Amino acid sequence: MIVIENGTVVTMDDARSVYFGGHVVLDGDRIIAVGEGAYPGDAAMDTAVGAEGIDASGMIVLPGLVDLHFHTAIGKGYSDHLPLWEYLDECWYPLIRNLDAESAYWAAAASYLESVKSGVTTVNDMYRRLPDLARAAVDIGIRAVLSNDVALPEHDLDTLADNKDAHDAVHARGDGRVQVYVGIEWLPLASPGLLRDARALADELGTGIHVHLNESLTEVENSKQRFGRRPTEVAYDAGLLGPDCVAAHCVWLSDTEIALMRETGTHVSHNPSSNAKLGNGIARVRRCSPPASTSGSATTRRNATTAATCSRS
Ligand SMILES: [Zn+2]
Repeated sequence: MIVIENGTVVTMDDARSVYFGGHVVLDGDRIIAVGEGAYPGDAAMDTAVGAEGIDASGMIVLPGLVDLHFHTAIGKGYSDHLPLWEYLDECWYPLIRNLDAESAYWAAAASYLESVKSGVTTVNDMYRRLPDLARAAVDIGIRAVLSNDVALPEHDLDTLADNKDAHDAVHARGDGRVQVYVGIEWLPLASPGLLRDARALADELGTGIHVHLNESLTEVENSKQRFGRRPTEVAYDAGLLGPDCVAAHCVWLSDTEIALMRETGTHVSHNPSSNAKLGNGIARVRRCSPPASTSGSATTRRNATTAATCSRS
């Protein structure tokens, strides 16, 4: 048992309760008490059964943070001046194509440790060599949702077969803290057929999907040239979207695409730091606020935008 006292307890419950100088008590993997003031339990008895006390004076006690879009990092600081497309071609893809098991394990262990030290207890990690990432997650103790970098074969990254093998090998490891989703790198390295197959695999496995969508203007232009439609429209047509799908970035969504996100209940990961670092632009999250106008079209846009940015349930 762990008894945490004297901290500012930010509960994130439905009433958004905050207890100044409150307590939180853990028993195994369960929170058994949260409230104001000191823990009213029998301290002497708790000590007798090996309770550990933590004095959180001057600290905030809050639920773990969830990093909804994460990549294990092996090349931090390399080629930081490049825009997204060039960065991927010159730095990211060459690095991850040459990843071996030991590199994957240590890169993941370092990345997960850094996350835990920042208060992140869950990472949604799209990367390669998932069994090695799972070992690192179990060793660090973090909750990790892992997905492969699946792309068309000519790009020499991962395949859906790799993703299925990883699911069969490590899904539910670490007392269920490791989960395996189906990953799609992004549309410039994919096709509508690959997206349909990814959806079919996710349904077969009963798991979720992780994809980059509408991250950059070059991605949108690439999609329009190759498929005649914008990325989220292509994903929608292929059946990829849904409440079990996390779409990362979504900087350049049209009004139509925002409506598709809403219709399907797709979860959008907003990544402002990454978008700023890569010069990709600013996502339309400000449109979460209701507009002054109450005309039909404005209301439609407001509702759609709210769904795209606040649809987590
Ligand atoms: Zn990403």
